[in-house]
Amino acid sequence: MRLQFSLKLRMLMLLVCSLPHTGSLYAETRFQTKFEASSRTETATYDEGIAYYEQLSQTFPELQLRTYGTTDSGKPLHLITLSLDREFDFARLHRQDKALLLINNAIHPGEPDGVDASMLLLRDLVLNLSKFEPMLKRVVISVIPFYNVGGVLNRNSTTRVNQNGPKEYGFRGNGRNFDLNRDFIKNDTLNARTFTQIFQELDPDVLVDTHVSNGADYPYVMSIVTTQKDKLRTPLGQYLEGQMLPFLFTSMASRASEMIPYVNVFGNSPENGYSQFFDSPRYSSGYAALFHTLGFMSEAHMLKPFDQRVIATYNLLLSVLQSMSKDSDQIRRLRAKAKKASSLQKHFPIAWHLDTTRSSDLRFKGYEAKRIRSELTGQLRLFYDHERPYEKTIQYANHYSPTITITKPEFYLIPQAWHEVIEALERNQVTLEKLQRDQSIRVESYRISSYQTVETPYEGHYLHHDVKLLKTSETIRFRKGDIKVPVNQWRNRYIVETLEPQGVDSFFAWNFFDTILQRKEGFSAYVFEDEALQILAANDELRTRFEERRASDSEFANNSRDQLMFIYEHSPHHESSYLKYPVYRVLSSENPLHSNITPQALPAR
Ligand SMILES: [Zn+2]
Repeated sequence: MRLQFSLKLRMLMLLVCSLPHTGSLYAETRFQTKFEASSRTETATYDEGIAYYEQLSQTFPELQLRTYGTTDSGKPLHLITLSLDREFDFARLHRQDKALLLINNAIHPGEPDGVDASMLLLRDLVLNLSKFEPMLKRVVISVIPFYNVGGVLNRNSTTRVNQNGPKEYGFRGNGRNFDLNRDFIKNDTLNARTFTQIFQELDPDVLVDTHVSNGADYPYVMSIVTTQKDKLRTPLGQYLEGQMLPFLFTSMASRASEMIPYVNVFGNSPENGYSQFFDSPRYSSGYAALFHTLGFMSEAHMLKPFDQRVIATYNLLLSVLQSMSKDSDQIRRLRAKAKKASSLQKHFPIAWHLDTTRSSDLRFKGYEAKRIRSELTGQLRLFYDHERPYEKTIQYANHYSPTITITKPEFYLIPQAWHEVIEALERNQVTLEKLQRDQSIRVESYRISSYQTVETPYEGHYLHHDVKLLKTSETIRFRKGDIKVPVNQWRNRYIVETLEPQGVDSFFAWNFFDTILQRKEGFSAYVFEDEALQILAANDELRTRFEERRASDSEFANNSRDQLMFIYEHSPHHESSYLKYPVYRVLSSENPLHSNITPQALPAR
């Protein structure tokens, strides 16, 4: 009896496995995940998830679980790696031409689909190694099970207002209420600093950061944000657009998880088209792009049931894996090419805008949307009619053009006092050199001539934008130990986009240099009056400009403080550091002295 039952069960299992059901999950009874044990209604807690990977990695030598650094929560980041050859040294894996996939989960712990999808995927892969061997020969998978550890521990069932499950989940803000998907450049959190260490050690070919969407309603369970193709070096961008994405869309459709580019529509409906989400470097995929890594954010749809979303996320991760395995040589070749080109590149775009004159046709399935009278407010509200689905071609604006392009210097010089900036460069493994002696160097310097600042705090900062600069050429005295950043590295995009103050996510924009935006000294008007007269008497040109201004500007002529300030600002008393951007550019033609600098690589910190 018992044997018969077992045979029957096995037959049934075989049947289930071969059925083209909604997901590709294997009907595994060993190593059940929390998702499965809860009839697909719950997501693993932090302790459950880590314990699961500990157990799995203790059973299968192809898995290695290790910890890195720390996070704001006080707990480290975990990384679990599946390597068929049991090789876990990432530099060695690169030399062996393996393609590296990094999956990042629970950056927004209220959106935990990737947490459970990753547990299922790694489990299914190791339990079926012989079947997946051809794929895993080419690709090594690393997973951060929980990135926002503090947010994961802050479990609740209310903060994802419009989301359809799971029963409980974590909170978006981390232990200090930072949104980690805005922290990839400024690195306020220990989470981001540790992530940077992992990312730079892995140098992944592909990054998938898993999310759940907000916004419009439509039938697709899965949508995807991709690294904006125009920001990638051409052949790599073309590969992403022309080869990898079509494969992913087709693969998802064949797994009954049809997918659409991220529906970047809020407060409106998508039937008239939409534009591509612009992933600047503060976001995971935008940060990845700085290092020529193909970055994706999976965005499962909030209104779809949790189980469907987890399965769609699983299918996407599996599709990415298949795509990487199929194209591993090509991806690695194109990345190597992009790195080389970036190290030689002379001109770098640092700000972009949507090109509204160009768009692509996108076949889109949606629900008819209309504005109906709200019973609550009496005003018009958006309503999606699920009884009236449609399919039509809409316009997808996915072309971006540079608005600011800069010519790279031969190197940047940063006085050692700006240690936070220097440490950020070090974390990202930028090669730095120290000046070996005090010396004067001819540089191009920037003065901040104007800038705008947001009015309310954003992620712990008052972000600057619309930065305007005045360029000057001058000789500056530098000290032994000041930092030289050669712009001949494959990490050039990171260097330029963070150090050029007009970059949308530059260190200047993120307030690293705000102390230069304030005067440190001033004058007492009643004392300075007499000296101001002497300054004018000794400087004919200044006196003429002063008098012309008084004659043409009545407001100025009626404001004694403004008049004294005008003279002060043009006097030797005025501090040179005010509005002076303290990162200097050395252009090769302007730098007869640079050969005197003896480079010395910094020891790793
Ligand atoms: Zn998210």
